Amino acid sequence: MTEPLDLFSTPDAPNSPGPIRDAEAAAPTEAPDLDTLRERAAGCTACELYEGTTGTVFGVGPATARMMFVGEQPGDQEDRALEPFVGPAGRLFDGALVEAGIAREDAYVTNAVKHFSFRRQGNRRIHQAPKVGHVRACRPWLDGELALVRPHVLVTLGATAGKALLGSSFRITAERGEPRPWEGTTLIPTIHPSAILRADPDRGQDADEMRAGFVADLRRAAELLR
Ligand code: SF4
Repeated sequence: MTEPLDLFSTPDAPNSPGPIRDAEAAAPTEAPDLDTLRERAAGCTACELYEGTTGTVFGVGPATARMMFVGEQPGDQEDRALEPFVGPAGRLFDGALVEAGIAREDAYVTNAVKHFSFRRQGNRRIHQAPKVGHVRACRPWLDGELALVRPHVLVTLGATAGKALLGSSFRITAERGEPRPWEGTTLIPTIHPSAILRADPDRGQDADEMRAGFVADLRRAAELLR
């Protein structure tokens, strides 16, 4: 099978720091509960990505979730709805979860970066991979979510989320689907569903194969909870 590429954040991750406005602008991310953390994140201006967006797209799901998914960043539809994974990639994600026997409402779903990173093209907002500085600036919010949810199984979706938690040496094509212990939980990295939507046959990418591999990784994650 052709190894899928993560087209969402090629080649493997952001590689230059984004302009960080003021790291101190972030509100404290140690919070007694997710609602408090969400409220604090809503006012975050620690990097420039908040400009021109609807708002902070914080994670959703129960604080008691045993499984947590971390994607890259919200897209255009997620920014408008202020909810992660509700656009085309989210619909693909939902279908794959069903096939893998995972109830999305039982999981906590979030992103490494909480604001939509984009460039304008006419009236359209085109996704632009967040830079490493954006991921770094946003990390306290993700750490806050991790500390409150404390999932048994953590699934990273795509290279950006993988690098955010596993470091810059993480390689999605070589390491996806392999569970490993991480900070008291089990982390399993897989591709981002948007990579499947962007599968390019000219580059040897087969969307059906990529989707099947994605579902297989999710099934492996589900097995870890049994
Ligand atoms: S992307 Fe993250 S760090 Fe940057 S402003 Fe939004 S919430 Fe704050």
